[in-house]
Amino acid sequence: MKLKKEEEFMRLAYVGLPCQIEAVRKIEALSLETWVKNVSFLIGLFCRENWAYTCFRALIEDDYGVKFSDVKKFNIKKGNIIAEKGDGALQFPLKKSKPYIRIGCKACLDFTAELSDISVGAVGSQDKWSTVIVRTQRGMELLNGAEREGYIEKKAIDEVKPGVGLIKKIAREKYNENLEEARNRKTLHTEAKTLEEIKKLSKGKGLANLMSEVVETGNCSSCGACEAVCSEVIRIENEVPVIMGECKQRCECYLACPRTYFYSRYEGELGKFIKIFSVRARDGAALERGQDGGAVTALLSYALDKKIIDAALGVKRDENWKPNAAISKNKEELMKTAGTIYSYSTNLSALKAVTK
Ligand SMILES: Cc1cc2nc3c(=O)[nH]c(=O)nc-3n(C[C@H](O)[C@H](O)[C@H](O)COP(=O)(O)OP(=O)(O)OC[C@H]3O[C@@H](n4cnc5c(N)ncnc54)[C@H](O)[C@@H]3O)c2cc1C
Repeated sequence: MKLKKEEEFMRLAYVGLPCQIEAVRKIEALSLETWVKNVSFLIGLFCRENWAYTCFRALIEDDYGVKFSDVKKFNIKKGNIIAEKGDGALQFPLKKSKPYIRIGCKACLDFTAELSDISVGAVGSQDKWSTVIVRTQRGMELLNGAEREGYIEKKAIDEVKPGVGLIKKIAREKYNENLEEARNRKTLHTEAKTLEEIKKLSKGKGLANLMSEVVETGNCSSCGACEAVCSEVIRIENEVPVIMGECKQRCECYLACPRTYFYSRYEGELGKFIKIFSVRARDGAALERGQDGGAVTALLSYALDKKIIDAALGVKRDENWKPNAAISKNKEELMKTAGTIYSYSTNLSALKAVTK
């Protein structure tokens, strides 16, 4: 998914899934691209699993007879997928969707986007509140500023039920289940411990290795890191990296991929963090349009209003719930990106295109 380079921004916030956040951090840690320095905030979403767009649509339309275009909101609650329509809701057990889970997601170990500045999810908090894990000082400043200026209200997670125990439980389940799968597939991304080790282990490996070790083994998450560092050769088509041109042997695609060697990142069930909160937007529109407590939209709204960032990159859906990368420069644009789309938008190239 590309955005045209019509506009470029110096300070961007990026909202992404754990695999996408890992990709940005790996590109940053290995100094593969200069634009990442201008990504001011990484807001990661919790993610237990995701579905390929066409498969998820087939599940809802063919198996349950509900047109995607009639759905107003998708939600996952207490082990059920809920598709809210104008005239009621379709509800069915989450386990019915298991065959439709993207194959690359089954080797992912990260539930809470451990490398973001701020991670946001539903689990742990009550209805219409978001759980916010603050991981960095700049994330803490963003949250405190948004509270001070009246954009959000927050409570410590210890004050709410079900609280941190449930987040840890799901993170642990995902880690254990998928680690076994990752080991069965002989994946590489659990092996390196340091950046030096990554460089050493990746030496001499390039596009052919990326295709055979990551794509053909089903471990590609479609994050788009390879496309972002080498768009003249690689393009993600239908969630799969496709070779478009002659390889220049720079081997950056292999280095950038978060599913090749990765440095040690898993610390406890939730990764490194400063504090966890339950957060809700104070603005009625953000709360109404947001997926849970509208925390992501409220934090971005504050950052845009106060000119802490110039733009935010999230995703926007079309009438058939297909996600597309979307830039927001103000609250009106931001509101159109609120809510969760349960499928994948490969948008790192879009992030690169608009980051000066
Ligand atoms: C595929 C997927 C699986 C998830 N699984 C879980 C889970 O298992 N447990 C859990 O607690 N939470 C999960 N979440 C997160 C949850 O659904 C909410 O997105 C989160 O709680 C933030 O809610 P909010 O009201 O604060 O955000 P909002 O204010 O509604 O903002 C949501 C932000 O997320 C962006 N966004 C929406 N869909 C996508 C997408 N597909 N890719 C990238 N960005 C997107 C929007 O553009 C917007 O910026 C998942 C999200 C996704 C996309």
